[in-house]
Amino acid sequence: MTRHLISSADLTRADVEDILETASSMHDLQRREVKKVPTLRGRTIINFFFEDSTRTRSSFEIAGKWMSADTINLSAKGSSTSKGESLRDTAMTVDAMAVDALVIRHNASGACHQVAQWVRCSVINAGDGTHEHPTQALLDAYTLRTRLGDLDGKHVVIVGDLTHSRVFRSNVITLKTLGARVTVVAPPTLMPSGIGAWSEADGFATSWDLDPVLEGRGEHGPVDAVMMLRVQRERMSGGFFPTAREYTVGYGLTRDRLETLVARNRDVLVLHPGPMNRGLEIAPEAADSAQSVVLDQVSAGVAVRMAVLYHLLAGDDSSVASSHAPPPTHAATEGAAR
Ligand code: ASP
Repeated sequence: MTRHLISSADLTRADVEDILETASSMHDLQRREVKKVPTLRGRTIINFFFEDSTRTRSSFEIAGKWMSADTINLSAKGSSTSKGESLRDTAMTVDAMAVDALVIRHNASGACHQVAQWVRCSVINAGDGTHEHPTQALLDAYTLRTRLGDLDGKHVVIVGDLTHSRVFRSNVITLKTLGARVTVVAPPTLMPSGIGAWSEADGFATSWDLDPVLEGRGEHGPVDAVMMLRVQRERMSGGFFPTAREYTVGYGLTRDRLETLVARNRDVLVLHPGPMNRGLEIAPEAADSAQSVVLDQVSAGVAVRMAVLYHLLAGDDSSVASSHAPPPTHAATEGAAR
């Protein structure tokens, strides 16, 4: 594992498995009355969010706090970014305060990679433009593994606005790293350019037609989980589909489609990274169904981000060398809880 977490491709299968295993002990902590361990005492983490966020920002903040790190939140509005300071100057300014990690969300793809060249601290990508969102993919993998066990050979279908989705890009990488079979479905207008070569190289399937995939027809085979993506209107400059109604008819997880899925596999899972556009890409009946693990994803988000911070920051120094240190023991956790 590298010093930073910029892309899901930075993680080998062993790294992902290590992180998910650590996350599982962190998840136990979440169920305690006193949710605090001393693991990152003395470490400072800055969460710098240049784009809005509910889940990612609060879970990184909670993760740092539960591990006793000092966490500080900055946003573009309220920092010198709003006065025109460049990303480089902002990053170097924060780094000069000897912080240990910078968690960054930015609307420019590649921003986190760029910042990592300028600073000494660890950089964690909390979503950069339409590029990647590696901790989302880890929490999705955690959620899937909790319900489905080993993901080797499991079939995960990712549906929706692929063009604008960093969640999709990171998920394809992590799911393939864990041996899952992946099919991605989108209307032609929301299928990223170059996906043909990418899907061939990385071994995932693509389709414009949702129903045969959900029905498991032909070579598609049975579905274990469906991940619905948000239609990212804020990133759309033109009309990517005629009307919201037509999008739902073609690509929404409607009540009928959920029934089809459940008829074929009663244990099928429904995921969505949030925030959900209810009634557009996912019907309320699907979002609130017994198959939905949307809130499990949110809960896993804290545990997984604790695990990532632990692997990057705990130990003798804030470098990767510490990434394979054992997770905090139960005794340490219990001691802290008293
Ligand atoms: N919350 C996720 C992200 O920041 C998904 C989304 O916004 O659609 O990428």
